[in-house]
Amino acid sequence: MIAILSLTLLGAVLGVILGIANRLLKVESDPLEEELLAVLPGSNCGQCGFAGCAAAATAIATAASPTCCSSEGTPLATLVTCCPPGGKALAATLAGKLGITVDLSGVAAEGPRIAIVAEELCIGCCRCSKVCPTDAILGASRQIHNVLREACTGCENCVDSCPTEALVMRPVPITLQHWVMPRPLAA
Ligand code: SF4
Ligand code: SF4
Repeated sequence: MIAILSLTLLGAVLGVILGIANRLLKVESDPLEEELLAVLPGSNCGQCGFAGCAAAATAIATAASPTCCSSEGTPLATLVTCCPPGGKALAATLAGKLGITVDLSGVAAEGPRIAIVAEELCIGCCRCSKVCPTDAILGASRQIHNVLREACTGCENCVDSCPTEALVMRPVPITLQHWVMPRPLAA
């Protein structure tokens, strides 16, 4: 009984301390940053030049802040078009959320892409799997390699590592298992 009461009391005290700490030490997040992060792909591929989608959202929100000096860092219009997997549609969405007008004529309209191995060219040298940051490439030495589509973020790191040009980037194939209803167009 003493052990049960002690643990219950300890749990209650720690719970109260955590609750108070949560209120006192709470870090206020930027609502715009959260809104931008929600529309970014979330694959953290790093093609934008940032460590991931959260870092990209922070950079865009910071650049959009009225206190940010526009002459420093990357211009907001460039940041809005920084996500290759999101393409033109995402750039338009981001610009709409920020209330700015951006020339999107030079932004590719293609969607996310993943790496595919051309089996007839693969010699099984394993160079690609060593540079893949998500371990998306499977294969043993001197065996044909393959890419796990669920794990590939489209970072393109592997493409240049292949001596036989067996790795190519292709739009994510739509299959019965992966089809989702397209999002409605923004008004
Ligand atoms: S593009 Fe290549 S290196 Fe990048 S995640 Fe996909 S398989 Fe890995
Ligand atoms: S680098 Fe190219 S040839 Fe070597 S295992 Fe990967 S896909 Fe095959």
